[in-house]
Amino acid sequence: MKRLIVLGGGESGVGTAILGKQKGYDVFVSDKGAMSKKYKEVLKHNEIDFEENQHTENKILNADVVMKSPGIPDKVALVQKLIENSIPVISEIEFAAQFTTASIIGITGSNGKTTTTLLVYHILKNAGLNVGVAGNIGDSFAQQVAEHSFDNYVLELSSFQLDGIEKFNSHIAVLTNITPDHLDRYEYDFNKYIDSKFRITKNQTASDFLIYDADDEAINKWLLENKTSAKLVPFSLEKKLEYGAYVEDNNIIINITKDRINMPISTLSTKGKHNTKNAMAATMAAQLLKVRKQNIKESLEDFEGAEHRLENVAKVREVEYINDSKATNVNATFYALECMEKTTVWIVGGVDKGNDYNDLLPLVREKVKAIVCLGLDNEKIKNTFGNVVDIIVETAGAEEAVKVSQKLAEKGEAVLLSPACASFDLFESYEDRGRQFKAAVRNL
Ligand code: ADP
Repeated sequence: MKRLIVLGGGESGVGTAILGKQKGYDVFVSDKGAMSKKYKEVLKHNEIDFEENQHTENKILNADVVMKSPGIPDKVALVQKLIENSIPVISEIEFAAQFTTASIIGITGSNGKTTTTLLVYHILKNAGLNVGVAGNIGDSFAQQVAEHSFDNYVLELSSFQLDGIEKFNSHIAVLTNITPDHLDRYEYDFNKYIDSKFRITKNQTASDFLIYDADDEAINKWLLENKTSAKLVPFSLEKKLEYGAYVEDNNIIINITKDRINMPISTLSTKGKHNTKNAMAATMAAQLLKVRKQNIKESLEDFEGAEHRLENVAKVREVEYINDSKATNVNATFYALECMEKTTVWIVGGVDKGNDYNDLLPLVREKVKAIVCLGLDNEKIKNTFGNVVDIIVETAGAEEAVKVSQKLAEKGEAVLLSPACASFDLFESYEDRGRQFKAAVRNL
């Protein structure tokens, strides 16, 4: 019996353990921290051995294979020891993919992964395909492989998941964009992060496809300097493409099959240039899977969008409140500000990940009347925008931020929570921040 060690007892770890057990492995789960009650119950129910608050080396170093959860960095001493002992250390998607013959649509990028994943899933499901979705959404991929027999999977893939692949392949890969993020895990070397994202194409063959943003500098540079076997399927907001997706006279044109698609951007249910890009990428993925044009159009019109991503919360006394709590970096906030059509009170701040706010200056000058800081350290925000925006107020919680914003916003204006920062100084997570914001708005 082969021994599978699972490091990290969260969603992907527990899913892997269940699948491993089902496939006949001797499974042991080890978590350095405390595990949630829910996951411990699941493991007990499945008679899977586990430990928490420690890693017992002699129970781990006898592994045939180790699944490392995405949150654990490679530099951890135990992981280094496994590598020195030539024990394969892989990610959940690598482990799970060996047990399914489903066709995989893998979606990665710095921003837009969840939105594009949900959109592709929505289109394929509406078109009647037998399709599952996994990533940051719902049950882990591994657990679904254990419990379902889908013909297709739409997978949101982080760079950490991709770092742990050997043979995993996506028939259709989508690379939404690459901007600096998570650099702490890549020795502060942007090129290393770019290479990690491009691992999505490393096992692709000539019958596979790589859909990518042809306006993205980092992506174009990589493609010039490196090779991929996949067929390249670009999308662009800036240039007309002979093959791919582009915009002409406010219409999206998709030009990859004889069945050319032409659809007004105004009919998309989600707003903003970034969502036009996400829609172009998702449409091409669906067309490559032979979904009919009419089905795609209908799905793009009725897609509800994802929670905490430019989510319309409510209109209170003629002021619109928008929750974009998932904007945890400057680039995501750039797109949010760009698609604001009304004068905006902007709630920003949190844990700065080495942010350079200068890119936002023109948009802030044009659209923002007041800044409400929602973080512990707001110095950089005040320094960057102090000369551009007259009113900058510091707050220490979602409720206070919303109340202050209400006072500042006048009829016909908008309040946007788009923090450009992580949430861990004042909140448990970006979801927690978004929910607290929504609750405060609903209490107004
Ligand atoms: P991810 O899963 O990659 O974090 P999400 O779909 O959750 O991406 O979106 C994260 C944030 O980025 C949201 O604030 C959203 O409005 C913004 N966003 C969505 N799509 C894009 C895109 N293609 N480019 C830039 N920002 C985007």
